[in-house]
Amino acid sequence: MTLADLGVTRVPVPVPFIEAGGPANVYVIEEADGGLALFDAGIGTKEGREALLAGFRALGRSLGEVRRIFISHGHIDHYGYARAAQEESGAPVYCHPRDHGKLTGRGRSPQGLDLYAAYLERLGAPRELLGHVRVHFQDTQRMARPLEVVEPLSEGDRLRFARFSAEVMHLPGHTPGLVCLWAAEQRVLFSDDHLLERVSPNPLLDLEGKAEPEHKALCAYLRSTERVRQLPVSLVAPGHGEPFTGHAEVIDRLLVFYDRRQTKILDLLREGAATPAELAPRIFPHAKPSQLYLVLSEVMGNLEVLEERRKVRREEHRGRIFFSLREQT
Ligand SMILES: [Zn+2]
Ligand SMILES: [Zn+2]
Repeated sequence: MTLADLGVTRVPVPVPFIEAGGPANVYVIEEADGGLALFDAGIGTKEGREALLAGFRALGRSLGEVRRIFISHGHIDHYGYARAAQEESGAPVYCHPRDHGKLTGRGRSPQGLDLYAAYLERLGAPRELLGHVRVHFQDTQRMARPLEVVEPLSEGDRLRFARFSAEVMHLPGHTPGLVCLWAAEQRVLFSDDHLLERVSPNPLLDLEGKAEPEHKALCAYLRSTERVRQLPVSLVAPGHGEPFTGHAEVIDRLLVFYDRRQTKILDLLREGAATPAELAPRIFPHAKPSQLYLVLSEVMGNLEVLEERRKVRREEHRGRIFFSLREQT
């Protein structure tokens, strides 16, 4: 089974940040009526636009032929060009409701930033960290024009294309509203950033407009991954990099990786209670200050998993959240 058998062409577009894991893939899919659909839309930079248009030219097609635009999740390397593609084609844009605020920009209000400031401070983070979050908000504005209207895409929706149909799987983790497309008959999983061959998926801290995250990113990610591991996948078409096989091995390596990280955190907590920000530099000694948000998300994600497994407990003192080992009984 190849993507060409499904009437699908992968168009990689360059992304200006290394954490992404290389160029982002736009999947151009033949629609039954002769038009085209997109699974992800690339990024709204000059280079992103040029790469996408070159991909269309190589196919002898144009953006104006796009009928539907499906977005896997609310990260700028996946939806950043959606607004422009919509203006060119008039196509509706679909995404899971939990990521709508990212696509419409309503999730990036000044009040939203205040909520992050307050929460990061409770995790023990220095004030400067907020500067990086602000820069991230501004980058987003620059590389992804917000959409006015986004249509819902939900678990179990069936999408019919010219040569295959796919089921929408809601797999929260990397973001709260991430979806993958599962073409069961052909056993092809369009995994976007839920499953990449060589990069762990960075389940990021996401407040979704609340003071306390409801979305426990890594806990959710691990549950979603259990679902994906059960699928009889023969080919994974990821959000970055080439299609690959052996999804179960990739997942098992990832589970070992997270287990080791959690063991390391438990070892550090033997020395006494600590805030996530105190643990972060001991787990990532080489992280740059600009990566602190990523690092803190990773540490907090693992702490939430350990908390769910009743290995650690949290307490809040003077506005700071501390984690400590639970005595084993
Ligand atoms: Zn990505
Ligand atoms: Zn992503």
